[in-house]
Amino acid sequence: MTEGVSRFERHDGIGLLLIDSPPVNAINHAIRVAIIDAVETVAADPALRALVIACAGKTFCAGADIRELGNPAEPLLPTVVNTVEACPKPVVAAIHGTALGGGLEIALGCHYRIALTGASFGLPEVDLGFLPGAGGGQRLARLIGIEPTLDMVALAKRMKTAEALSRGLVDTVVEADLVNAALAFARDLPADATRPTRDLPLVPVAETLFDEFLARNRRKIGRLDAPQAAVDVLRQSMTLDVAAGLALERKLSLELREGPQSKALRHAFMAEREAGKLAPEVRALPRREVTEVGIVGSGTMGVGIALAFLGAGLPVRLLDTQPQALERGVARIHDTIARNCASGRISADAAEAQKALLTPVGNYAALEAADLVVEAAFETIDVKQDIFAQLDSVTKPEAILATNTSYLDIDAIASSVADPTRVLGMHFFSPANIMKLLEVVRGARTAPDVLATVVDIGRRLGKIPVVSGNAWGFIGNRMLAVRRREADALVHHGASPYEVDAVMEAFGMPMGPFRISDLAGLDLGWSAESSTGSSMRERLCEAGRRGQKTDGGFYDYSDGKAVPSDAALAILRDFARDKGFAQRSFDRDEIRDRLLYPMFSEAARILGEGIAERASDIDVVWFHGYGWPRWTGGPAYMADQIGAPAIVARLEALGMADSIAPELRRLAETNGTLADLATR
Ligand code: NAD
Repeated sequence: MTEGVSRFERHDGIGLLLIDSPPVNAINHAIRVAIIDAVETVAADPALRALVIACAGKTFCAGADIRELGNPAEPLLPTVVNTVEACPKPVVAAIHGTALGGGLEIALGCHYRIALTGASFGLPEVDLGFLPGAGGGQRLARLIGIEPTLDMVALAKRMKTAEALSRGLVDTVVEADLVNAALAFARDLPADATRPTRDLPLVPVAETLFDEFLARNRRKIGRLDAPQAAVDVLRQSMTLDVAAGLALERKLSLELREGPQSKALRHAFMAEREAGKLAPEVRALPRREVTEVGIVGSGTMGVGIALAFLGAGLPVRLLDTQPQALERGVARIHDTIARNCASGRISADAAEAQKALLTPVGNYAALEAADLVVEAAFETIDVKQDIFAQLDSVTKPEAILATNTSYLDIDAIASSVADPTRVLGMHFFSPANIMKLLEVVRGARTAPDVLATVVDIGRRLGKIPVVSGNAWGFIGNRMLAVRRREADALVHHGASPYEVDAVMEAFGMPMGPFRISDLAGLDLGWSAESSTGSSMRERLCEAGRRGQKTDGGFYDYSDGKAVPSDAALAILRDFARDKGFAQRSFDRDEIRDRLLYPMFSEAARILGEGIAERASDIDVVWFHGYGWPRWTGGPAYMADQIGAPAIVARLEALGMADSIAPELRRLAETNGTLADLATR
């Protein structure tokens, strides 16, 4: 028996393989060998009637060991699952925690499954760009039917115990003492009660089911290859025997695993795990205790931020100097909590608890007990400095003071506090209770333990924290501004906003730059009195087209749906004529490259300046702040796939040499990557 990862025991005629490989019993080579050994031992020993496979620790096998993905050694998982399934004596899986990926495939190779309440089941391989490689989809479809299998294999949906029981994925659910229950279950089985999942019939479904599924999930699947392949395999399986179905699933799984999307998605997965990892000496610091939170400003962002803290069980004092704004903010928080409750996302008790944690306040003195204050008031330096000076006078000296500013200088804000080491940026994205990204912006004087505390808090809120240096727009908005500049330039010179948006949306962004402008409002910082008609946005505002809220901006809106607007186009053309901009047409590739390549260059600059610590942090910012398509791996990863020399050459060919950062030029000369520019 393989030492270290498992042990084999005999319990009154039943063999028990207890896998014990912390933290999540990820399936590695030693575990695969142990399973085959256990099956062979039970098969050969007349004193043993059945085998139970269970796991120690907090979960059943939660997937394959990702470190072995590139280079696995025999026996591979399909052999292991086939061996289990072919065991001449019954094999029972005893499942607690999460049976995911390869873990579920092993369980599906067993003849029976018994689960502890609270267990969940899933095949999340598509999230990494491939398919289950050891028959997971084929066996699951035979066990629970094609329709629920589509959700699990193509969309990586998880199934909880109750549904697993009703659909027949598990045979029994127990409340406690899982291993003993599984041993008793095995003992009650006749010795010949093997039940290979592969022998179950695949219940046919209407051929239209597959196309309906694809249509229903078109947005989610987008241009991802793996979910499409998962659907294709199941569709074809209806006319294949089980061996051919298994072979097809395996073949596609391996092909996809080697493909560019899977590599990019695995990069995205690792990038998320790296994000917010601090230097060891910072990680080791004791954290400041945060049990009371204050939020200043109850507008769009203050409301979302408050919801994020309330959802994490932290008491919030919400302050706004405008009583009506405060009232509106509280009402919106209550509405959202009520909606979350009505939709089943949170229980009625949790909803009441969240509401009870919220205290609206009208003055700064009420924030004296706060351990952390997040400011989300108007975006002007005077307002912010004034607020921080007030916070300085009322809060405890060790309280952390954070600003949600989008662009302003953290050090300038910190200068109005006697001790600037307790100031930093917590840049949430809208809606702040939903969006996963949190840029944690370190000022020149921010104390390391303040940074570490806020990174931890970000995780407690369910966010993905990315540390950023203090520079205009930080990581995300700085690159966004570059894209907006280039998008504007395209429209100045003859492209329509609709073409530009269509190219970005086809690339996989949820919304093009002009739709975003319309949604945010074209009148941010605009006033009729001071308007000089010197930009496209000013011209549109002057014509009453201030964006979606006025039913017109770059687009017209009917029932909230954006439609191209002749009126807007006429305004844009007049503007270009007045400015004397030369006009021409642009093909889709040129539009795409004019938008993306300068962003790659800006990413190099951001890394060169140490604003982002790792290239992959830039990717995480763009996935979770702006919806950049994961299957491309993110802007920095994509830039490295294209290569600095090719990016520089393309920018020069497009006449955009001005936008080439010196850092990018140097990389092109040395054939280096953005990843090389990392400072961590
Ligand atoms: P908003 O106008 O919706 O809300 C601002 C609120 O702050 C208002 O309710 C106002 O009454 C209150 N306020 C103003 N001065 C105050 C003061 N001195 N004391 C207390 N309250 C005061 O603005 P918003 O969109 O929520 O943005 C807030 C901040 O968040 C800005 O710095 C903005 O740049 C930043 N931000 C906004 C977004 C976004 O998408 N809206 C995203 C990230 C960051």
